[in-house]
Amino acid sequence: PRNKNIKVYVNDGLYPRDEAKVSVFDSSVQGGDAVWEGLRVYPEGIVCLDKHLTRLHESAKTLAFTDIPSKAEIKKAIQMTLDANGMDNETHIRLTLTRGEKITSGMDPRLNQSGSCLIVLAEWKPLVYDNNSGIKVLSTSQRRNAPQYLDSKIHHNNLLNNIIAKIQANVAGKDAGLMLDDRSFVAELNGSNLFMVKNGKIYTPYAHACLPGITRSTVIELCKKSNIEIHEQDITLSQLYNADGVFATGTMGELTPVVEIDGREIPKGDSLQRKMLQLFSRNIRSYCETLA
Ligand code: PMP
Repeated sequence: PRNKNIKVYVNDGLYPRDEAKVSVFDSSVQGGDAVWEGLRVYPEGIVCLDKHLTRLHESAKTLAFTDIPSKAEIKKAIQMTLDANGMDNETHIRLTLTRGEKITSGMDPRLNQSGSCLIVLAEWKPLVYDNNSGIKVLSTSQRRNAPQYLDSKIHHNNLLNNIIAKIQANVAGKDAGLMLDDRSFVAELNGSNLFMVKNGKIYTPYAHACLPGITRSTVIELCKKSNIEIHEQDITLSQLYNADGVFATGTMGELTPVVEIDGREIPKGDSLQRKMLQLFSRNIRSYCETLA
């Protein structure tokens, strides 16, 4: 009910929720042909805003979108959306940039004649996971795309792999689906990156088949600043099962302990893991950027 009266920015202005629409000819409908970012707003600003806008721009450039709005234009649209909704402290924003409306159905980018379409959807959302109790995950049969199939650095809306992984987890009564890469090393969860604690060190998979998450990069940076040993490396399921601690990272959920993988219990109380979670929550607001 809280989100019923929100206004959403679509393309050129703000619309009440029920009127905020894209065309059935939009590239996102015709082919999942869009890129996106999930942002977290605190009273201090938006977490790692510039990194999110850069990733959106790089994804759109890779896909050869045209008329891509500048960072300043996107910031202005975000400001208008937050103002129109009276949201000045804690909320979630989903930025979507589609290739735009096509002149007829089909996937050929040349059918797009109007340039890209920006959507700014700011919505208060409860967190998906309870960071205190942690989450249970299932390793799924659905592989994360490796670069030779679809470059994981593109943060695109072609999310069917992740959705299938999530369905498998749902059917098993678990919170998230774990996805391996093409070589059967751990890639990530269906919507967040993974870290493992073992013998006083922290490990995370190479950004081979996982999204190079911005929260992931913040965790790596905080570790380096605090002299916590952190390594990117190939990680197997067996290594994860036998870790001293495992946690997931993402912009909205921040750091979430993983307490079970495929029925194996993962300890939650490791001192380095607790230290890392604390370090993150104490520092994340210093990563906030204002729109001005
Ligand atoms: N992996 C996937 C598949 C995701 O969708 C997300 C969230 N967009 C993440 C990881 C976490 O990325 P970030 O830390 O940049 O939010």
